[in-house]
Amino acid sequence: LTPRRKASLALTTALTVVLASLLAATLTSRAAIPEEGLEAKWSEGSLDCAGKPGPAIEVHRYDPRTFILRESLCTTFEAPLMYLLVGEQKALLIDTGDVAEPGKVALARTVQELLPGEGSQKLPLLVVHTHRHLDHRAGDGQLRALPGTQVIGYDLESIKQFYNLPDWPRGRARIDLGQRAIDVIPTPGHNETEVTFYDRVSGLVFSGDFLLPGRILVDDIGAYRESAARLINALGDRPVTAFLGGHIEMDAHGKLFEWQSQHHPDERALPMTSADLQGLATALARFNGFYTESGGFTLINSIHILIAIAVAIGAVLIALVWIVVRYARRRRARKAAQAA
Ligand SMILES: [Zn+2]
Ligand SMILES: [Zn+2]
Repeated sequence: LTPRRKASLALTTALTVVLASLLAATLTSRAAIPEEGLEAKWSEGSLDCAGKPGPAIEVHRYDPRTFILRESLCTTFEAPLMYLLVGEQKALLIDTGDVAEPGKVALARTVQELLPGEGSQKLPLLVVHTHRHLDHRAGDGQLRALPGTQVIGYDLESIKQFYNLPDWPRGRARIDLGQRAIDVIPTPGHNETEVTFYDRVSGLVFSGDFLLPGRILVDDIGAYRESAARLINALGDRPVTAFLGGHIEMDAHGKLFEWQSQHHPDERALPMTSADLQGLATALARFNGFYTESGGFTLINSIHILIAIAVAIGAVLIALVWIVVRYARRRRARKAAQAA
């Protein structure tokens, strides 16, 4: 071979390699889902979900290895968010949504299609939960049926065991996806099984129902306050790109949508900031045990409110009975006096 032919052969080979990898990249990059960052708009649902329900599930791609999934408002008013993080050796799905039936929401198929690799060469998948509420784990059954998939239990014992956190809620754990480490920080308070995930690669924090642009439903205020302090401490001065919660229940002006509304016009964007975490800590410190609005947060303990209402109704009933009994006695006494 002459040096010229050698050069042209090398050039042809290089060109072929480039073209082949470009082709492979287009085939595997799921080009149907553009990269939209975190400000992406979700479908706003509808006032007439029976008439025009729209897509059952939506996917936004944050980067080539980070996907945000959401069951749409017409599928379930909860419209929970789920997150798929892809590492070199494994992928992680955080939460499985509010719908069990694959005919209604094809969650397993959607996730499978997003995973790199083909057929039996698909990346293994680990499925975890932010907490055990049904709207974050109803799709577990679908995922369990996927080959190469491990679904972690949602009860407190399974969580303590899987993450090796015997001193719960103290301590923290780590999930290694291969070139992508995820910190797991216990954050009970909304629910006793809640954990928050911090992705060291993207700087994203997945905060479930612990911190979200919506109602902060408090189950255990003591645990919640401690968890806020624990999370602030665990994140320290690590870079945080955004906090991504489990639902969006506010419009762009911070006004809460009506409870269970399936129509969210002008919905707020998903991401929250470290300042929001500080704001949550302040609001938790001010919480009166029932209902508190502070710094854009609305904190509610619906059990305490229900107990308070029940106590109030009970008190009114007791007072009414007392009045009726007293009236009847006086009447009887008056009659007896008249008869005498
Ligand atoms: Zn919840
Ligand atoms: Zn929830």
